[in-house]
Amino acid sequence: MRPQDILMPVAAGLCCKPGGFHIDPVRPVERAVITHGHSDHARPGHGAVLATQETLDMMRLRYGDNFAGSTQAIAYGEQIKLGDVTIKFHPAGHVLGSAQIAVSCKDTCIVASGDYKDAPDPTCTPFEVVPCDVFITEATFGLPVFRHGDAANEVNKLLASVALFPERAHLVGAYSLGKAQRVIALLRAAGYDAPVYLHGAMEKITHYYESRGIALGELRAVKGVKKAELAGTITLAPPSATSDIWTRRFPDPVTAFASGWMRVRARARQRGVELPLVISDHADWDGLTATIEATGAGEIWVTHGQEDALVHWCTAKGLAARPLDLVGYGDEDEADAPAAEEADA
Ligand SMILES: [Zn+2]
Repeated sequence: MRPQDILMPVAAGLCCKPGGFHIDPVRPVERAVITHGHSDHARPGHGAVLATQETLDMMRLRYGDNFAGSTQAIAYGEQIKLGDVTIKFHPAGHVLGSAQIAVSCKDTCIVASGDYKDAPDPTCTPFEVVPCDVFITEATFGLPVFRHGDAANEVNKLLASVALFPERAHLVGAYSLGKAQRVIALLRAAGYDAPVYLHGAMEKITHYYESRGIALGELRAVKGVKKAELAGTITLAPPSATSDIWTRRFPDPVTAFASGWMRVRARARQRGVELPLVISDHADWDGLTATIEATGAGEIWVTHGQEDALVHWCTAKGLAARPLDLVGYGDEDEADAPAAEEADA
């Protein structure tokens, strides 16, 4: 069977006709199979939704109980037959509950990675290489200039700055779902055991992580805390909040931003970031290319991000490769957090 007869990009997203579903649809569909909880992948309004329990819970937290007509949870390693295809979920290492979806029909297996990273992350199940015929990879950081390095070193930079400026507050811009919790876990792993303060928009999802057994140490809401008490502390906030009037409640804040884009100095300057931290929940160039090779796939479909360089790299390696024309997906660090997450600043 030709791979394009199994999965095909359409306006609503990646469509599996023989299975009767769409993967991460950007428009309401009858049956959606969803890779992870970020809002560009997990949207409300579908008939039936199949996803991991964590992804379903995150959708419920963001959109309310009626976010879909019906839901079904699937575990990593679990296999389900939908129409003429079989699907299986595998960990993507991107955020809690994130999954790659293997779609098999007759003797062809296609893996849709969703967003993924192969770097260690104590807040989610590690990425797993899934052998397949066609691998659909993201390409958010699909340029050789993007090499994220060790996230622990970046957190050490933050701690060095806190030690250097005990009279100032440190404000770390980090996406609310995944990045914020990973930064806190990295701080704890580095031995930082003081309370970590949270912007209101981070509280629900961070407490959800804790409820799933991710230990994050002592957390405090920053709301209502006196300015002077915030000297020498670390607060996590959505990236958009770190550049607005909200920051006036902090004593002489040092503004940090945890993102793979911080590799690009101009981006940090543009956003007025004093302390750029290169911490990403996406695979970097080496991670993308190593993963593509490890899957053993002979055909690579490249989507959301810098498709061209990765397609070129695949072609040079003798792999069939093409960009997938999917619209509506972005990088969560670049998108402004959705209104619901911005509430209760
Ligand atoms: Zn994502």
